[in-house]
Amino acid sequence: MSTPESILIKNGYVVTMNPRREIIADGSVFIEGPEIVEVARSQDMVHRGAELVIDAHHMLVIPGLVDAHVHLAQALIRSCADDVSLVDWLKDYVWVLQGNFTAADGRASAELCMAEMIRTGTTAFIECMVHTRYGFNGIAEAAERAGMRAALSKIIMDSTGYADSPDIMYPGMVEDADACLRETDTMFRRWHDRADGRLQVWYGLRSLGAVTPELFRTVVHEARSRGTRMTMHLGEVVDDVRYVRENYGMSLTGFAQQMGLLGPDMVFAHGVHFEDAELQVLADTQTNISHCPASNMKLASGFAKVPLMLKLGVPVSLGCDGGPSNNTYDVVREMRLAALIHKPVSGDPRVMDAQTVLEMAALGGARALGLDNRIGSLEPGKLADVVLVDMDQTGLMPNTNPVSNLVYAGCGHYVDTVIVNGRPLMRGKRLLTLDEEQIRERAARHSEQLLARAGIDVRPQWPVL
Ligand SMILES: [Zn+2]
Repeated sequence: MSTPESILIKNGYVVTMNPRREIIADGSVFIEGPEIVEVARSQDMVHRGAELVIDAHHMLVIPGLVDAHVHLAQALIRSCADDVSLVDWLKDYVWVLQGNFTAADGRASAELCMAEMIRTGTTAFIECMVHTRYGFNGIAEAAERAGMRAALSKIIMDSTGYADSPDIMYPGMVEDADACLRETDTMFRRWHDRADGRLQVWYGLRSLGAVTPELFRTVVHEARSRGTRMTMHLGEVVDDVRYVRENYGMSLTGFAQQMGLLGPDMVFAHGVHFEDAELQVLADTQTNISHCPASNMKLASGFAKVPLMLKLGVPVSLGCDGGPSNNTYDVVREMRLAALIHKPVSGDPRVMDAQTVLEMAALGGARALGLDNRIGSLEPGKLADVVLVDMDQTGLMPNTNPVSNLVYAGCGHYVDTVIVNGRPLMRGKRLLTLDEEQIRERAARHSEQLLARAGIDVRPQWPVL
């Protein structure tokens, strides 16, 4: 389907997320080219027709959701490492599988992941670590074709440790620093700001223990001189804290500050193990945290202090992480967890409400991408990344408080229509840019071949007759 020149979404329940957070109970959105031109009550709309008119009766109309921490290559290894300890999870499963990837596996996994993200209302994402062996070009081409907005971060590393465990990394996952920087340079020139401006190329620093101070400083300099951004896992495990204390005599933020890593152009994934005082440093420097509640629970990493982060003004976004740690790429379900998990920890059910987590998923994600003036809300002049959720569902009745209903009772599979940059990627639950049947078939085939190549046998714990 070609991109319509204009789209009118009419008669929807429009959650604008504008600065006044206005909701329009019977609202319409007019889109021209890639931009939103008008958002108003249906009866007040100036624009009354368009090349494509979508009747959004019974639909919630929200800004596109952003997944601010994604491993595209882990969709293919979904459910391959459940209920195991974090170190075993990495050392015996995830790294071994990913360390046996071919570029064809990388593309099959990326397409599977993007199909799931579009289907569940994600319009933009931050892929945190593309290994050379996954095939950067194939992944970028897949993102270009899928129509999503994406930051693709090339892995940067020069050591083989993980936190305070030296030489632990699977050989197939090891990369050389010069090659990492060279490839990032090539990919930046080829893909950054391409695909109608939807693609960005970032630096994806590997975790502590895999990057020396010299390389951290080189990357910070290169990224800032290019005007691009960086992401890395930080404080996911308590071993990170031990690593910087034992090796540098510092706290996580003390070390990050000395390396030049703090700032609005950095997205730290997880951020579970910061001390309270460190959160003020993150707020002062406007360093982004991508909160990944499902992954943190599944791997027993702990609970990020998100309510305190928000109170202090730390920019927080949401991330689904990966296929073996979540195991879905559904930001709506992630919102539910983010709203729930902080309540028992704090003993206060008011500590995280539905509106706050929707802000994290839309505006917080936009800020993590450095695009908060372009996406994250439905306002004239912003890019048209719009999601329509079908609320006429048995599991969502009665729909008296739609935002709360979406967060607490919803899931991404209620999403009906997804528009990115003014282009419909899904209509009536049918993907328009990706061949889902082919993607599923390819994923099953590549997964089987990968498991055989890696010598990993995944089977249910109960006897299969
Ligand atoms: Zn991750």
